[in-house]
Amino acid sequence: MEEKVYRRLLILGSGPAGLTAALYAARADLSPLVLTGMIPYGQASLTNIIENYPGFPQGIGGQELGQLFEQQAVQFGAEVIYEQAEAIDLSVRPFEVKTFSTTYQTDAIILALGASHRKLGVPGERELTGRGVSYCGTCDGWFFKDKDIHVVGGGDSALEEALFLTRFAKSVTIIHRRDELRAGAILQNRAKSHPKIRFIWNSVVKEILGSEKIDGLKIENVLTGEQTTVPSEGVFVFIGHDPNSQMLNGQIELHPDGTVKIDEHMMTSVPGVFAAGEIADSHFRQVVTSAGMGAAAAIQVTHYLGDL
Ligand code: NAP
Repeated sequence: MEEKVYRRLLILGSGPAGLTAALYAARADLSPLVLTGMIPYGQASLTNIIENYPGFPQGIGGQELGQLFEQQAVQFGAEVIYEQAEAIDLSVRPFEVKTFSTTYQTDAIILALGASHRKLGVPGERELTGRGVSYCGTCDGWFFKDKDIHVVGGGDSALEEALFLTRFAKSVTIIHRRDELRAGAILQNRAKSHPKIRFIWNSVVKEILGSEKIDGLKIENVLTGEQTTVPSEGVFVFIGHDPNSQMLNGQIELHPDGTVKIDEHMMTSVPGVFAAGEIADSHFRQVVTSAGMGAAAAIQVTHYLGDL
């Protein structure tokens, strides 16, 4: 018979929201269990350096910050397990969360499942992923030493990653669909003044070309409709994120963009289920705001479980 394990509080996800929630819940003596998900420490762990998390004036690596979050939560009694929630049933009490090996039963859940990078959805993208198409500069940048590569997107991620990739690449060309960047001023200034960075404005990628590896990109100027092929040895896609809420569809109220609806006390439409971080926030999406949401969710869970 399948093993069922009861825990008073489950936290799904181990990014800044999940691990901050774990710290607060542990300090409230709730012995929370964190299921890390596929990317321990979340998307922030893939960032080479985080320069805007307070307390680290020299910046700190994403992986390193995640490890510190975990260490602090564990020190106060949280347990962190490298498992992924594969199914969530909110129709039963206690709630049930299934992983590959175990069914967990719990009185309360904090959803901190984060978000996943968006794909371009053009021909060649899927086939050439891992052969020149990437979504993580920190992970893959080294493979592009002395190569001429492209970055798609105009937000903070695109510029931050483009700047990081200049360590390896011969040139980094940013393709953006408008002629104005969404990224913040500091990153814009750094990117625009960097000798290795160029821009292709008002353009979108229509196809990624190549068989064993990338040879080039078919791009279209959105103002003129003109299509051109540019040679490329790699393309990094940073065009935003979608919340990891698919498993919750039909069980909980979601906003049209897929983020989980929460009230002012971080509670979702299902009493006992709380949410924090990018799964519930499509606006701020900062390490510090996600951590803050995690703390708030844990404080509310403490009240909720105390009243049960
Ligand atoms: P984002 O801010 O949503 O930017 C996505 C970019 O991709 C936008 O420039 C957008 O163009 C473009 N885009 C979207 N869909 C596209 C498509 N189908 N084809 C081509 N281009 C497309 O996402 P992000 O850069 O990942 O940032 C997410 C959040 O994290 C933001 O709140 C950001 O401030 C934060 N962040 C902060 C830092 C930092 O503070 N250092 C670093 C990384 C991320 P448009 O501009 O035309 O919409």
